[in-house]
Formats: sequence, structure tokens, C-alpha cells
Amino acid sequence: MRSPFDLSGKVALVTGANTGIGQGIAVALAAAGADIAAAGRSAPTETQAAVEALGRKFVSIQADFGSTEPVVRVVEETLAALGGIDILVNNAGIIRRADSIDFSEDDWDAVMNTNLKTVFFLTQAVAKVMLASGGGKVINIASLLSFQGGIRVPSYTASKSGLAGLTKILANEWAAKGINVNAIAPGYFDTNNTEALRADEARNRSILERIPAGRWGQPGDIGGAAVFLASSASDYVHGVTLPVDGGWLAR
Ligand code: NAP
Repeated sequence: MRSPFDLSGKVALVTGANTGIGQGIAVALAAAGADIAAAGRSAPTETQAAVEALGRKFVSIQADFGSTEPVVRVVEETLAALGGIDILVNNAGIIRRADSIDFSEDDWDAVMNTNLKTVFFLTQAVAKVMLASGGGKVINIASLLSFQGGIRVPSYTASKSGLAGLTKILANEWAAKGINVNAIAPGYFDTNNTEALRADEARNRSILERIPAGRWGQPGDIGGAAVFLASSASDYVHGVTLPVDGGWLAR
């Protein structure tokens, strides 16, 4: 009997898969059997090597998701190279830090455009493909700041709280049409995104003290949740934002 977590024959489009959480997810999906299209602005050389070593196909698509400009082309190139899109992982994202009282319009727009606006329109374009082929799985990479306020990151909190809402509305509209829309909320992961936090000794210590697991997450910690939400094991799961946070939100 085929495992409900088996992704053989599936195609996953993962944004920002060259590093960090996106890389961890792309490699985990490939290990479960999926071919990978990686769309982003930096060459995903390491990810390509890891995916191909697992015997899966890999295509790299150049795209800057700071605007919606590449959305249609990314979908077309994925279809041309791999023949379909069964799984979309909206992972590419940025953060800008400054006190809210001083926060600039540029830092607001850059984060909202990348983390929310482009995610919506890429998902809309991919959903048209999924609806035509009978369904699919959308996984949005949210944050603890989809649940909490955070500090000095107003546009990031707005974007990730918005993404949790978007996850629910799209689930409401598409659940009966065969598309599962869910999100993963990573806790504190050791990636470029959190370099400044780890470099601040006091902040690093206070974060670690609050994490029940007692350590930062590593990109390999996120793959299991992604495989679950990408697979038929989650066919009746819709609209959730699943924390993978070492217990942070339980505290
Ligand atoms: P990361 O290492 O900085 O990765 C971010 C990814 O997004 C990179 O691939 C980056 O590409 C890509 N990206 C950013 N802006 C882009 C743009 N305009 N066009 C195309 N690609 C773009 O950080 P990460 O932690 O793995 O972040 C991945 C996701 O997880 C983000 O959505 C982030 O908000 C979320 N997250 C992270 C944490 C954490 O603790 N690390 C916690 C909660 C949520 P480049 O390499 O070219 O910059």
C-alpha cells in the first residue's frame, strides 16, 4: 500500500528555496518523491544538488517576488519544465526592523509586497492550474507573528497576520474544489532572517530561555510538517496555521 505521505509523481513549486526554511522544505518534499521547481532571485545551487542526489527532477526559475511582475512567467515555466503544479509553497519572505514610530513607507511596502501581495497573486495563478487539474496543496509560510505582535517589525507582523487570514479565506473558497490551503508558522529558526537576533547576545539568550525545546529550529525541522500538508495525509485539513516552534506558543 502506498504511504499517505508519498509524493511520487507530484510537482512542487517552492519560492525562495535557495537557503534556509525554503531549502529545508524543498529537500524534504523531494525526499518524499516530488520534483521541484525553485523560484527566486538567488541561484539555488545547493538545493539543486541535494534534490538531484535524491533522484528527483529540479528546475530553477529566476524571479524577484518584490512585485507581481514574474508571477505568470513562473507558472508558465514550471508547467513547461515539469508538466504541472500539485504543491505550492509560498516561502520567500523578508523582514525589516525599526521602531514603529520611525518605520518608513519603503520598509512597509517592501515587506507587504513580498510577503503578502505577491503571495496572493502567485497563489491565484497557481490555483487556476490546480482547479483545472482537479486540485492541489498550498502551503504558506507564516510566522509566530501570525499569532503574536512581536516588536519593531510592524510590516512583518501585518504581513504574516494577513497571511494567516488569507490562508483561511482561500481554504473557505477552495476546500470543496480539491485545493487544501494551509500554513506553517515556524518558530525561531537558524537562518539569514534571524541572524541579527542571534548576534545580539542578550536577545539570543532570552529567546532560548523561552523555547521549551531549548534550541533554535534548524531548516531540517520544518520538512515533516510540509510533507504532511503537501500529501494526501492532510486531505481533510483546511485553513490551519500549524506552529513548528519547539513549543514557543505553548509557553
Ligand atoms: P532566509 O534565509 O532569509 O530566506 C528567505 C528566502 O526568501 C530566500 O530564499 C530569499 O532569497 C527569498 N526572498 C526574499 N525576498 C525575495 C524576493 N524579492 N524575490 C525572491 N525571493 C526572495 O530566511 P528564512 O528564515 O529561511 O525565511 C523563509 C520564510 O520563513 C520567510 O517567509 C520568513 O518570513 C519565514 N519565517 C522565518 C522564521 C525564522 O525564524 N527564520 C520564522 C518565521 C517565519 P535570497 O536568498 O535571494 O535573499
